[in-house]
Amino acid sequence: MTRTVRALHAPVREDIGDLVTRRPLPGQTAANIDPFLFLNHHGPQTYAPHNNGLPFGPHPHRGFETVTFIVEGELAHHDSTGHSSVIGPGGVQWMTAGSGIVHAEVSPRDFKERGGPMEILQLWVNLPARLKFTPPEYQGLQAADIPAIALDGATLNLIAGEFNGQRGPVKSITGHLVTTVSLKPGARVTLSAPHDRSVFFYVVRGAVRASEVEVPQWRLAEFNGDGNSINVEAMQDSLLLFGHGGPINEPIFAHGPFVMNTRDEIVQAIQDYQAGKFGAEPVIA
Ligand code: MN
Repeated sequence: MTRTVRALHAPVREDIGDLVTRRPLPGQTAANIDPFLFLNHHGPQTYAPHNNGLPFGPHPHRGFETVTFIVEGELAHHDSTGHSSVIGPGGVQWMTAGSGIVHAEVSPRDFKERGGPMEILQLWVNLPARLKFTPPEYQGLQAADIPAIALDGATLNLIAGEFNGQRGPVKSITGHLVTTVSLKPGARVTLSAPHDRSVFFYVVRGAVRASEVEVPQWRLAEFNGDGNSINVEAMQDSLLLFGHGGPINEPIFAHGPFVMNTRDEIVQAIQDYQAGKFGAEPVIA
């Protein structure tokens, strides 16, 4: 059985200075798709030479994971556990904030000097209470580190989880599947999506039909739990974010960069951050 579409969620346009930003989640029609909390889509746009780059200097997180997809351009990451890397097009930065981390997500110096195309998406994935204080981790993957699985007229890039007997390089502590799927016009693929898992399905570029419903660019599709797969037909050259995860079904108390279960835990997170408990390494952006 094919899972039917429950809703399509349109993004809110909320630019950050000159950074083009669309946010499909949370939005006017969905608070979250448990465990998926938040998606920002930056660009596509072209930065001029001698630009200031991305505006995300050092800031903290606790209680969830950030998964950042670099479609165009480059993204430098520095964090308070000592990780530092620059990831290019087709790569992914998977950060488990867990008990607490400070990081900077900025443009490398040569991008600021030369400029160029930039398109980046960041997904926030919640952690259950039992994992909110897991040690912070960072995995930077270049495009070459991510298996590209050929489908009929399409390519699935397997970041985390299992697909067609292959396994993605990220060991998701919550067992999520996370992929990007690029499709040529007319391509038809079937994506496995077990009925008890929450599906994340976002059209980055192009337009597709998912289970016979047209999903235009910049729409997040939400699915009913009435089947175990999703049929996708590309109407144009298209790029999707596709994943699924088990719902957590716990209270969510979110405040800025912290996502916890209760208000008291948010107060504690702010105090711990201010007391310098989010990692010892200086974060220099
Ligand atoms: Mn961040």
